[in-house]
Amino acid sequence: PGTEAQQAVTRLTRWADDFPEKGVRFADLTPVFADAAGLRAVVDALAEAGREADLVAGIDARGFLLGAGVALALGTGVLAVRKAGKLPPPVHSESYDLEYGTARLEVPADTIDLTGRRVLVVDDVLATGGTLVAARDLLTRCGAEVVGAAVVLEIGALNGRTRWGSGALTALSEV
Ligand code: AMP
Repeated sequence: PGTEAQQAVTRLTRWADDFPEKGVRFADLTPVFADAAGLRAVVDALAEAGREADLVAGIDARGFLLGAGVALALGTGVLAVRKAGKLPPPVHSESYDLEYGTARLEVPADTIDLTGRRVLVVDDVLATGGTLVAARDLLTRCGAEVVGAAVVLEIGALNGRTRWGSGALTALSEV
């Protein structure tokens, strides 16, 4: 039972306890993306969530893989939302808390006009929601309208959906 994407996630996700820190149960989706049918299923299902989007934002780093596929499926471009220090200045940046540690997301400040762009934010896993909210805050500050977020796997116990609030949020599967 379940969608093709859900079946691929259930069958192929590798769970790691206490990685990268004690107390975190890490979902490694690498085998899902390496599987031809799995990749196709998750990319197509994520794209369904982004029908209104005219740009896909993929979050560093696993969101890049998905974001490019979703963008091709939708006929849009993809914006790589980078972790700190990867882009030359000038950048717009937004700091946030992770399930483990803190981080900063950045996009170019001078080369891509995000004003009025309708953006779908894509990532692999929704945990606490800090990453998706930071991406939304960053893109919104750049003038974009974030029309939704789409993830492959939602870890329900961490309440990321509550943190995200009332905006559109699609998770292909949930644990
Ligand atoms: P969060 O900001 O807490 O929602 O964390 C989401 C980001 O961190 C995503 O980019 C995930 O790839 C990664 N992440 C956080 N927790 C996990 C986890 N338990 N398993 C896999 N990835 C995780």
